[in-house]
Amino acid sequence: MSSHPLGNKKSRIIVIGAGIGGLTAGALLARRGHSVLIVDQALVPGGCASSFRRQDFIFDVGATQVAGLEPGGIHHRIFSELDIDLPQATLCDPACAVYLPGETTPVNVWSEPQKWQQERQRQFPGSEPFWQLIAALFQASWEFQKRNPVLPPRHLWDFLQLMKAIRPDTLITIPYTLLTVGDALRIYGLAKDRRLRTFLDLQLKLYSQVSAQETALLYAATALSISQKPQGLFHLQGSMQVLSDRLVQALKRDGGQLLMRHTAEQIQVENGKATAVVIRDQKTKKVWIEPADQVIANVTVQNLVQLLGDKVPRGYKRRVQKLPTPSSAFVVYLGVDESAIPAQCPPHLQFLYDASGPIGENNSLFVSVSRPGDGRAPTKKATIIASSFVDPHQWWCTEDYQGLKKKYTEDAIARLAQFFYLKPETIIHVEAATPRTFARYTARYQGIVGGIGQRISTFGPFGFANRTPIKHLWLVGDSTHPGEGTAGVSYSALTVVRQIEAQLYS
Ligand SMILES: Cc1cc2nc3c(=O)[nH]c(=O)nc-3n(C[C@H](O)[C@H](O)[C@H](O)COP(=O)(O)OP(=O)(O)OC[C@H]3O[C@@H](n4cnc5c(N)ncnc54)[C@H](O)[C@@H]3O)c2cc1C
Repeated sequence: MSSHPLGNKKSRIIVIGAGIGGLTAGALLARRGHSVLIVDQALVPGGCASSFRRQDFIFDVGATQVAGLEPGGIHHRIFSELDIDLPQATLCDPACAVYLPGETTPVNVWSEPQKWQQERQRQFPGSEPFWQLIAALFQASWEFQKRNPVLPPRHLWDFLQLMKAIRPDTLITIPYTLLTVGDALRIYGLAKDRRLRTFLDLQLKLYSQVSAQETALLYAATALSISQKPQGLFHLQGSMQVLSDRLVQALKRDGGQLLMRHTAEQIQVENGKATAVVIRDQKTKKVWIEPADQVIANVTVQNLVQLLGDKVPRGYKRRVQKLPTPSSAFVVYLGVDESAIPAQCPPHLQFLYDASGPIGENNSLFVSVSRPGDGRAPTKKATIIASSFVDPHQWWCTEDYQGLKKKYTEDAIARLAQFFYLKPETIIHVEAATPRTFARYTARYQGIVGGIGQRISTFGPFGFANRTPIKHLWLVGDSTHPGEGTAGVSYSALTVVRQIEAQLYS
C-alpha cells in the first residue's frame, strides 16, 4: 500500500505505536510538514495512558496523573506548538496521601512548597538538609531539561545540544551524577531513618521503578519535586484518553494518518539504515511493506530488539538482555457507589502493607479515585483504580492464571477495604489487569511497564538513546530519557523530532 504519496511533504515517516510518545512525535512532525503514518496494534490510541469504558464507568488504563500541564511544562509547550487546547485539568493537592505501614494519618505531599516543607519537617524531623539538597538539584536539573539537552549523546549534533543546555548553574549537579538517594541519605546521617526511607521507597518506586537505595539522585530530585508549584500533578477532566484524542486531532488536521489495529511486525534494515516497516492489518490479515525515510519506534527497547530480528546490532541486543528484569503492574478497576468513598478523600493515595520485603512484591497500592463530576462515573458513583508492582515472570509461568488473578484481585479489594467502604452492595464493577493484559493491549514485552528503571547505570547519561545504532531509526518512549510518564515520553518525542529535522537540514 502506498496510498499517501509524499507530494510536497518533506519526508515520509512511520511511527510504530500511538502511545503518548508516538502521537506526540507524529503530531509534531505532521505539523512541521512531514508525511506521517502512525500504526498501532490496539483498538484505541494512548497505550498505557488510554482509557476504557465499562457500563457507565470510564477507567484510566494505567496513567492517572499528568505532569507538565503548567505554563512552560512539556505538554503545555507541545500543545502550544500544535495549536490545540490543553485538556481541562485540576491540580492534585495533595498530589498524594501516603499511608506508611500501621499508620492512620497520611504523609500529605502538598503542592504548596511551604506547606510541603512544614509537613515533611513534622513527619521526618532532621531530614531538612536532605530535602534542601533535593530542591537545589531539582532547580538546576529542571532549568537544564528546559533547554532540551539530548541524553545520552550519540552524535556530534546531540553533543552540541547537550553542551548548549549546560550553564554555570548546572555544574552543581555534576558531583552528584554517580550518587543514589541511598548515598545521599548516608551522607546526611539519615540511612537509619526507616520511616523516611520507606516513604522515599514508596514515592520513588512510582517514578523510577526501583527503591530509594538504587534510584539515581539526580533523577530522584525531579521525581520528588515535580508535585510542587509552579509545577504540579494534574487530574484530567473526562479521562486520560483526552490527551491522546487531542494529539490525534492535531495529527489528522495536519495531514497525518493513524491506522489502529495495525501491527508493525518487522523493521526492515538495508545497509545499516531503516528503510521500511512490515505492517499487518489485523482485520483483513493483509501484510505489506511500507517504505519510510525515517522510522520511529514508540515501543520498549525490548520490543525494538524483537522488531529488528537478526538486524539488531549484537552489542545493543546484549545490553538489552542484561537489563535487570523490569516491573509490571497488577491493576484493579472498581466501579463503586459513592458511599464507598470516605469524605474528603484525596484523589491519589499510596499504601504500604508490609515493610519487611522490598517494595515491588505486591505489598503496596497506588490508588486513584475519581472526583464527582470528573466524567469517569455517573452521579453518586465513583471509580477506584489501584495498582501494585509485580514481577512479570510468575504471571507467564503460572499454570493457574485465572486462579492467580482472582487471588490478587481479592487481596487488593481486602486491602482497599481497610480504607474504603467496600461491600457487595457498594461494588458495582470489578475488573483487573495483569502483566498478560498489558502485554495484550499495549504489546509491551512481557507486559513490562514504566521504563527500564532509573538506576545509575540506566538513567540520563547512561540510558538508552533515542538515536539507535541503525540509521534513520529512532526510539521514543519510557525506555529513553527522561523516563516514564506522559511528560517524560513527550520530552523523548520532542528530542527525536529535533534530531530528525537536524539530520534532514544538515
Ligand atoms: C499502572 C500504571 C500507572 C501509571 N501511572 C502514571 C501516572 O499516573 N502518570 C504518568 O505520567 N504516567 C504513569 N504511568 C506511565 C505512563 O503511562 C507511561 O510511561 C507512558 O504512557 C508510556 O507512553 P509511551 O508512549 O512510551 O508507550 P505506550 O503507552 O506503551 O504506548 C505504546 C503504543 O505502541 C503500540 N505498539 C507497541 N508495539 C506495537 C507494534 N509492534 N505494532 C503496532 N503498535 C504497537 C501499543 O499498542 C501502544 O499503544 C503509569 C503506567 C502504568 C502501567
